Amino acid sequence: MANNTWETLAAYGSETGTIEIQECRNKEGKEKYRRVITYMEDNHKKKEEAGSLEEVFKSLEGQDWLLYFPLYVNPKVKKILGARLLQQPFKTHAAYETWLQYCFQEEETNIVKLAGAVAASSKTVVLTGAGMSTESNLPDFRSKAGWWQKIDPKSIAVPEAVENNYSVFADFYGERIKALESTAPHAGHFILAEWEKSSLIHSVATQNVDGLHRKAGSRNVYELHGALDKVKCHRCGTETEIDNFLQKKPCASCSGRLRPGVVLFGEFLPEDAWNGALKNIEEADLVIVIGTSLEVYPVNQLPRMTDGRTIYVNAETESEHGSFDLLVKGKAKEVLEKVEVVLRNMSFY
Ligand SMILES: [Zn+2]
Repeated sequence: MANNTWETLAAYGSETGTIEIQECRNKEGKEKYRRVITYMEDNHKKKEEAGSLEEVFKSLEGQDWLLYFPLYVNPKVKKILGARLLQQPFKTHAAYETWLQYCFQEEETNIVKLAGAVAASSKTVVLTGAGMSTESNLPDFRSKAGWWQKIDPKSIAVPEAVENNYSVFADFYGERIKALESTAPHAGHFILAEWEKSSLIHSVATQNVDGLHRKAGSRNVYELHGALDKVKCHRCGTETEIDNFLQKKPCASCSGRLRPGVVLFGEFLPEDAWNGALKNIEEADLVIVIGTSLEVYPVNQLPRMTDGRTIYVNAETESEHGSFDLLVKGKAKEVLEKVEVVLRNMSFY
């Protein structure tokens, strides 16, 4: 760029006029900035100098720039403007969408909105389902290749099976527990744990019984359907080691039959987990639902329990998910990794 020429960093406007943010470097390489306001009515120009980029953007914010439509965004300020956009998530004004398009690639727009919502929320609860675990290569037991295709769940995942069909029950769950031991959390689980540590999210409520959120380091986890690795006595409820169940040993306290701490069909959800999740979802100003088709009652009622914003992330988004404020189509791990990149790039933590 030639010395002492003004380069436009961003331009925006309305029917009454346009505003250009310009930068100029002199011979010594020192920058200065100005705002050029052009009034449409008489083509009159007003120039206001600013000492720094920070200063020029500050004045830009004073005018509620999001109400104006962008006309141009220079690639070198996309990141700065993008970060400011993220602090204003879900602006309803039509110009907000256009600003997003100017500052981000088209396919990133929903990711950016999700990142913006996470960054701006003061209490976020994440609700996860089977789709959260599929990228850990744990069998998704509702999909075609899954567990339940091989065995009728109605005959095994019921309290009656503990009484009448214990050998098959113990083999079935024993195999699931062993499969779990060689399954690791994926990057998406670790990202959620990291967000919790950094206070970006408050807690995770999950339908999954695989304990992968805990394994990844999440602390506030509500396991709504229980957990495979928490073995207890079916009769007296005493908790014990996994190995005792795998070896089909009886309960040490009452000689009753051992079982995994999962909710079987027809059983109540664990009260502590349910109440904890419900309370936090009610208080939340953002609920992000990830990887669940929301077909299973009563967990599918939870997203309605908040007055806050709701976002739905899933490989498949259906029309019945239209009540959510934002639908993000994609796999759990992929989406979380992209959101993480946006948050890190924008220095949100
Ligand atoms: Zn017992």
